[in-house]
Amino acid sequence: MSTLFLRTLREDPADAELPGHQLLVRAGYIRRVAPGVHSWLPLGLRVLRKVETIVREEMTAIGAQEVILPALLPREPYEATHRWTEYGPNLFRLKDRKGADMLLGPTHEEIFCLTVKDMYTSYKDLPLSLFQIQTKYRDEARPRAGLLRGREFIMKDSYSFDIDDVGLQKSYDAHRQAYTKIFDRLGLEYVIVKADSGAMGGSASEEFLAVSPNGEDTFVRDEGGYAANVEAVEVPPAPEIDASGAPPAQVRDTPDSPTIDTLVAVLNHSHPRDDGRPWTAADTLKNVLVMLLHPDGSRQPLAIGLPGDRDVDAKRLATQVAPAEVEAFGDNEFAARPGLVKGYIGPSVLGARNATGIRYLLDPSVAVGSSWVTGADVPGQHVLHLVYGRDFSADGTIQAAEIRQGDPSPDGHGVLTLARGIEMGHIFQLGTKYAEVLGLKVLDSTGKLVTVTMGSYGVGVSRAVAAVAEDNHDDRGLIWTRELAPADVHLVAMAKTAVDEVFVKAAEIAENCAAQGLSVLYDDRPKVSPGVKFKDAELIGVPTILVIGKSLADGQVEIRDRRSGRSRAVPVDGAVDELLAEVRG
Ligand code: ATP
Ligand code: MG
Repeated sequence: MSTLFLRTLREDPADAELPGHQLLVRAGYIRRVAPGVHSWLPLGLRVLRKVETIVREEMTAIGAQEVILPALLPREPYEATHRWTEYGPNLFRLKDRKGADMLLGPTHEEIFCLTVKDMYTSYKDLPLSLFQIQTKYRDEARPRAGLLRGREFIMKDSYSFDIDDVGLQKSYDAHRQAYTKIFDRLGLEYVIVKADSGAMGGSASEEFLAVSPNGEDTFVRDEGGYAANVEAVEVPPAPEIDASGAPPAQVRDTPDSPTIDTLVAVLNHSHPRDDGRPWTAADTLKNVLVMLLHPDGSRQPLAIGLPGDRDVDAKRLATQVAPAEVEAFGDNEFAARPGLVKGYIGPSVLGARNATGIRYLLDPSVAVGSSWVTGADVPGQHVLHLVYGRDFSADGTIQAAEIRQGDPSPDGHGVLTLARGIEMGHIFQLGTKYAEVLGLKVLDSTGKLVTVTMGSYGVGVSRAVAAVAEDNHDDRGLIWTRELAPADVHLVAMAKTAVDEVFVKAAEIAENCAAQGLSVLYDDRPKVSPGVKFKDAELIGVPTILVIGKSLADGQVEIRDRRSGRSRAVPVDGAVDELLAEVRG
């Protein structure tokens, strides 16, 4: 450590939000260069390499072959798949000196597809799985928590190529199995959830989420084994209700009721229900307007009708309308459409067939035959008993309402519970989407040209370092698992002068450990106090700490377990064997 490129910090860096991230910076693993862009210092690089090794071993074990394709890519293939525009502002686009458009790869379906097309022509060449561990670039809107959401980050991405769906399923299953091994070895508590295929396209897809209160993803589970990212939850359509006995729609004065809360108060005060039950927000239908920004730059308004006791979930909505982006519906937009009375918007002006022509989509929980209180499109007025299917219609449904704890499971098994997670991996059955567009075809056994079917599979390698750090620390520092620790043993020599017997013995033990294949981080700094050395050892988080100090005079050294804090004295002559037993388990 007297020569290691390391400077530990006692203070939390100002720009680090999460404890694991703060510790990675303080303990000298990483440093920030720009928002979402980080350097790996010697200790951090060791951990990163260990994650890469786990991923590489498990990918190789299923027969995937490692390659590296460029990060700097030409525009044309991404143009062909429309991702040059559909990726939107997340794509780093640049020009070369001749003015040609290029990009920094955010993910590599196109290039892998073309590479295989270049080389293979027959079904006999398949199945094939290729992977790379490589740097990806995405101009994320909100880089977060250091490595968790970077703009430059390291991903393992693999791609499978098969002749038919049966083959694709096999490749997918093999990856799924490899991923469970990877995340087991990383020591993460994780769930596999049904995911939305999003911009990637394709059909089936699942995510591996590390369960963490700091995660950006929310997922749901039921008792029957159903698990899904909230983005992928499909609320089933509510069964039709018989509305034959429903009273006719009636417009009522509801002064000063532009919000759901004020509306419910006015209703209960001025228009109590006949059956004596008080009105609640769930009796109201609110119509939320947003503006969609399409990749081609065009804007289009969208109205979403949903029960007044629910909000639109921004992520669910974003998933549904991708690649368009969602923008707020501003006051100028209202001003441009006098038919829209803010706070009192009702279905009668919405939808393709009505005055504003604004596309109108309903939450699937709004049943045909259900009766609502909703805006009357006049300031200070609402309409009561407006029945869906009888009095108003819509252009379709949308899965954009928030999902709540206790909601019925779409699977029919009880209710949903919600939790948060960090997306660690994502596996997709792409099908023929990319191969079709880019012309990846091979001859089948009958001599017929068939389009190859693909899978695509990602693991966030740098994100994994961050996720493990978030999961493995205490208030004094990081606590690595054996498999990821930057060293097997942190050896602390505590003595006043560099020629002290303690340093002589410590150097000898360090050498013996190395000879036995143990990696040692040896704190040989001569002028650093024992207190500082201890603090640094705890901060850096190697799981086993060997302390050589005063008790050496009695032939004793001390082995400390970083996680439990327990320590025990062992005879100095047996120290290396003790360490071997401890590290190798
Ligand atoms: P997210 O929803 O978190 O933005 P994504 O769905 O865009 O991720 P994929 O395109 O599926 O991510 O990428 C595969 C894997 O790469 C993800 O599962 C994640 O582990 C990792 N990853 C994606 N974006 C980032 C990023 N900005 N920084 C670090 N790792 C990332
Ligand atoms: Mg994903």
